[in-house]
Amino acid sequence: AKSAGGNRFELADPEADARAITRHGLTTSLPTALDRGEFFIEYQPLVHLGDGSVRGAEALVRWLHPQHGVLSPDRFIPLAEHTGLIVPLGRWVLEQSVRQARAWRERHGGEEAVGSLRINVNLSPCQLTHPGLVQDTVDILERTGVEPDALCLEVTESALIGADDDLLKPLRRLAEMGVDIALDDFGTGYSNLANLRRLPVSVLKLDRSFTQSMQRFPADPVDLKIVEGIVALAHSLDLAVTVEGVETGAQAEQLRILGCDTAQGWYYARPGPPERLHELALVDATG
Ligand code: C2E
Ligand code: CA
Ligand code: CA
Ligand code: CA
Repeated sequence: AKSAGGNRFELADPEADARAITRHGLTTSLPTALDRGEFFIEYQPLVHLGDGSVRGAEALVRWLHPQHGVLSPDRFIPLAEHTGLIVPLGRWVLEQSVRQARAWRERHGGEEAVGSLRINVNLSPCQLTHPGLVQDTVDILERTGVEPDALCLEVTESALIGADDDLLKPLRRLAEMGVDIALDDFGTGYSNLANLRRLPVSVLKLDRSFTQSMQRFPADPVDLKIVEGIVALAHSLDLAVTVEGVETGAQAEQLRILGCDTAQGWYYARPGPPERLHELALVDATG
């Protein structure tokens, strides 16, 4: 920005222009990207903090754009929500991921480590309000023959703040079927903790900001107390606690001591192709 009295012929910000052009290009190419098969999914392992075993993976969608290369979901999910593509895209991600989970579980049915891998899939708030959610999920599970308890749907805390019964009904139906519901990015939404009891969730996913505060050693005692309190509350409500964004062994150890159940982050593995997860789970099982 120019200060008052600056020159009127100031050039536009070339980076802002580039962003605007890209955004425009994405807006026009997004609606047909699904039909063109340009999306793919990476999987990031979920690791049990107690014994280090791989228990499952979170599915994270990417867009291989013909001009811009691989785009991260932050670049196009908001756009997909805005245009409504998120509903078919989300359904596609769910089906692909559940199929992948079946493939892992089938290939090594005899081997406990791979045979019981679970799959986490993100749900956008737009999918929550879409009337087809429950039936689509039931259909996908039936088509693939995957048991509902192998699936965990992640919904952000902010999507459920102030949620009324209409919004919670589909989640409740899914939870009754045995699908796990996780509250994603927990701790960023300032939700009423007492409110947790109303929600059909079985997992809290602590936001990365908590993990980051465990970076320093010793960590800030107030941060430690907060995480300790959340874990105690979660466990008293029978909720499991997953932590995301674990980048160092020190963080993992600190979070394990604080009682967190499962962890996810670059310290274990970056999101990657499905074969990678299969290898990680096997290596882990054989030593
Ligand atoms: P999220 O659900 O909170 O996913 C975790 C994000 O943290 C992922 O970013 C992941 O790659 C990243 N991450 C994992 N470990 C680490 C770590 O140790 N350090 C750091 N700094 N980051 C880590 P990604 O893949 O770019 O996804 C961003 C967001 O896009 C996701 O946040 C989720 O909200 C959304 N998203 C991804 N896939 C889908 C999808 O299929 N549907 C919907 N609706 N949203 C999706
Ligand atoms: Ca997530
Ligand atoms: Ca998250
Ligand atoms: Ca996040």
